[in-house]
Amino acid sequence: MGGKRIVVAVDGPAGSGKSSVSREAARRLGLRYIDSGAIYRAVTHFLLGRFGSLEKGRSYAAFLDGLEIAQRFDPEGRVHTSVNGDDVSSAIRDELIARNIGTVSDDPGIRNFVNGLLRSWSGRESLIMDGRDIGTVVFPDAAVKIFLDASAEVRSLRRVAEYREMGKTVDVNEIRNQIIRRDQEDTERPFGRLAKAEGSFYIDTSSMDKEEVIKRIIELIAEAGAPGLMDGRQG
Ligand code: C5P
Repeated sequence: MGGKRIVVAVDGPAGSGKSSVSREAARRLGLRYIDSGAIYRAVTHFLLGRFGSLEKGRSYAAFLDGLEIAQRFDPEGRVHTSVNGDDVSSAIRDELIARNIGTVSDDPGIRNFVNGLLRSWSGRESLIMDGRDIGTVVFPDAAVKIFLDASAEVRSLRRVAEYREMGKTVDVNEIRNQIIRRDQEDTERPFGRLAKAEGSFYIDTSSMDKEEVIKRIIELIAEAGAPGLMDGRQG
């Protein structure tokens, strides 16, 4: 692909749909996609494996030696995340990870580690990366910044549908409470909190379907005038 290398930063709360739409927009445009939430999940998985359980408020940043995380985006639009060579893509979706991730992602030392990793992956190719602080902290100079939002109710129902698709039985109230708790954790942490980046496009997806959101993201990338991006694989 010709043209300049660009970074598209997509941030938003849990269940806003950012991973699935970013992934699909990246696939259609032939860009790499990076799921930064999966990296925080992978760190949590590694630390749980080492300590069994995590104490809220304790810092685990000193225990990341020997941790190697890799992420691959395949041509079918799937993300594969590995920890020290083991594929943890499905293990990191476990409830136990969701319950412990706040302790890990509140830790400034861990955030520095993850940010370094995310930035090291941006050197070579254009990419779409999603998370909470991608447009504010990781890539404040991203060519396109998008903030995806939706009401807590809509986000809870989307999460429930996702779990059911994976064949998991979940309680709607439990998911709603989890979403509300994670919103609180994500917006209140002192470092890397979820916030709308300066210059970002705000999209409320509450009454949009997935296809509409994907098209809007592709349009915004095209409007940003990233040369070379629009030939090839969209559609
Ligand atoms: O995106 P996902 O819901 O998988 O992210 C899981 C958790 O990882 C978030 O709730 C948040 O605590 C943390 N996270 C973060 N910064 C990011 C991405 C995710 O703190 N850029």
